[in-house]
Amino acid sequence: MRTATASSARERVRTGVRRSQRSGKASREGGLRPSATEGAHQVLPAIVSVFFHTDGTICHSWCGRPLEFHGSRGGLELDFFCTRCIEHVTLPQSVLSRVPVLSGV
Ligand SMILES: [Zn+2]
Repeated sequence: MRTATASSARERVRTGVRRSQRSGKASREGGLRPSATEGAHQVLPAIVSVFFHTDGTICHSWCGRPLEFHGSRGGLELDFFCTRCIEHVTLPQSVLSRVPVLSGV
């Protein structure tokens, strides 16, 4: 009797492990996770926090005022500050070529 109980408990454990393995496989095969190609964006997002004025100054999109340049961080990011909004704006240097040019707000 004692042996039978222990063996049936072992059987339940084995069955439970198999079920969890099967469900893990099913979720991978079921397509719940996007594939690597589905998640890739082909179109780069628009830069909306700043814009280049036609006079060459970089301006805050929120208020349209020119931003103060506060320096570069690690040669990768540029720090700006908007004195009207009292807001810090950081831009990766790599997006400068994609900043839109507008005549002002
Ligand atoms: Zn501002």
